[in-house]
Amino acid sequence: MRIAYHLVTTDERIGTTLARAIDEALSNTALCQVCFSLTEVEVCQICSHPGRDRRVVCVVEKPADVIAIERSGGFGGVYHVLHGLWSPLKGMGFEKTKMAELFRRIPGAEVSGMGFPRVEELVLATGTTVEGDATALYIAHSVKEENVAITRIAQGLPKGGELEYADEVTLSHAISGRRTLR
Ligand SMILES: [Zn+2]
Repeated sequence: MRIAYHLVTTDERIGTTLARAIDEALSNTALCQVCFSLTEVEVCQICSHPGRDRRVVCVVEKPADVIAIERSGGFGGVYHVLHGLWSPLKGMGFEKTKMAELFRRIPGAEVSGMGFPRVEELVLATGTTVEGDATALYIAHSVKEENVAITRIAQGLPKGGELEYADEVTLSHAISGRRTLR
């Protein structure tokens, strides 16, 4: 209501422009044929970028997670968007996600004239919720016959966080996920 009020009481051209932008976004946006992230072309900019390592695939729940990891600037591989997590209590089975498509990507493929090599590492970057952990475990279990490395994003303390104020679960993950410094 607030938006509608704002639009009718200010310049109405803003409303028309906004409506057109939303309409264009809806009709031009599709899912990337390789990673299932949002794109306006058949294969998204990340998948088709020559500088990205296509052997390393980061598995996330939703397109917004791709944007978040990209913003961090710390990842040079490509993605796979599941569009959901395994959540039987919410009626969300594996078949409703892009899980089968992930497994099909592992041997490598050709899409839109672009070659995608065999996947050598799956970085499981689903959230640290019960569903996120269950989905990660399921993927790791399903591909254990394949010659592919499975990694899980680190879980622990936020940057600038103090141990004293961390909750027990976070702290226990931080301790068990410790890594060698030298
Ligand atoms: Zn893509």
